[in-house]
Amino acid sequence: MKYGRSYNFSAGPAMMPEEVLEEIAAEMMNYQGSGMCVMEMSHRSAVFQKIRDEAEADLRTLMGIPENYKVLFVQGGGTLEFAMVPMNLMKNGVACYVETGAWSKKAIAEAKKFGTVKVIASSADENFSYIPDCSDPDIPEDADYVYICENETINGTTFHTLPNTKGKVLVSDQSSMFLSRPCNVADYGLIWAGVQKNVGPAGMAIVIIREDLLREDLDPRTPVYLNYKTHADSDSLYNTPNCWAIYCCGKVFKYLLAKGGLEAQARRNAEKAAVLYDFLDSSRFFTAAVRKEDRSFMNVPFRTPSKEQDAAVVAAAKAAGFDNLKGHKSVGGLRASIYNAMPREGVEALVEFLKKYEKENG
Ligand SMILES: *Cc1c(COP(=O)(O)O)cnc(C)c1O
Repeated sequence: MKYGRSYNFSAGPAMMPEEVLEEIAAEMMNYQGSGMCVMEMSHRSAVFQKIRDEAEADLRTLMGIPENYKVLFVQGGGTLEFAMVPMNLMKNGVACYVETGAWSKKAIAEAKKFGTVKVIASSADENFSYIPDCSDPDIPEDADYVYICENETINGTTFHTLPNTKGKVLVSDQSSMFLSRPCNVADYGLIWAGVQKNVGPAGMAIVIIREDLLREDLDPRTPVYLNYKTHADSDSLYNTPNCWAIYCCGKVFKYLLAKGGLEAQARRNAEKAAVLYDFLDSSRFFTAAVRKEDRSFMNVPFRTPSKEQDAAVVAAAKAAGFDNLKGHKSVGGLRASIYNAMPREGVEALVEFLKKYEKENG
């Protein structure tokens, strides 16, 4: 790695592509002859409007977002979306949630403040190490939407098949898998993602919402900022947006387009994940935590035979230049987050390190 950078396996904020960081560094003092840094620029200026518009246009191209969907750049990160979704989409006050781990549990707790939540499937019985069957869930007639966390960052599971929503609107938290593979936007009513996992700097969520779900008739006490329509009607410029995050995300969208789009990215991610999972499955010292068919290509939790050895591996890895491998406290063990920006060489180097560790200590 250049600049003495480490292979950073953080779950978020996480690595960004080196080429993108270099471009941003080159534009830091004077953005394309504007005489200022993007951080210093009016969000009402023509220069910034172009940055914003290109970011949206490039994201639309990358994901093939249909015309009847709005793209919103909203502050408050991922956590505010747990509230914004029920505030905006609960018309009848009833919603269905699939409980697959830490982040869907948070979404459920928040939604309960706004209406009735029905958990239609759960993998709590096996510490969220698999994706429950959602092929024929019991969905009430008056349910406003069905909600999933499509990739559980902490538990390391992914929906490789979307649930059968029986015609209800599907809402997905894609925070830790956004832009990691092609996505048929028309399958969803709303997709949202906190960008600090797989795209850019922290402090912003991207929301992709079907136009007919935007509403005027929310509870009149709803803060103006928390109505999706406020952002849809103003190109996400109702107030000062997170200009810096929009700019950095826009750079990443251009980078992904230049690298062949989401199909090419999905191929690279699958190859990268296979390097790690194949090793874990062949190891007698390390064990992958998640059922094979539900494994995430982004977050890979694994463990050694004991807590003490888990900690020893994390410390030895850190000393060898592999950062942030400690698992989340609710799962324990280790976790390697291998988002889009983690180079294949980083995963290969980690596997070499783990192999050697096993040989010497296993
Ligand atoms: C990180 C994360 C969140 C929360 O994001 P914040 O920006 O920290 O609020 C929500 N959902 C998932 C799947 C995440 O990985």
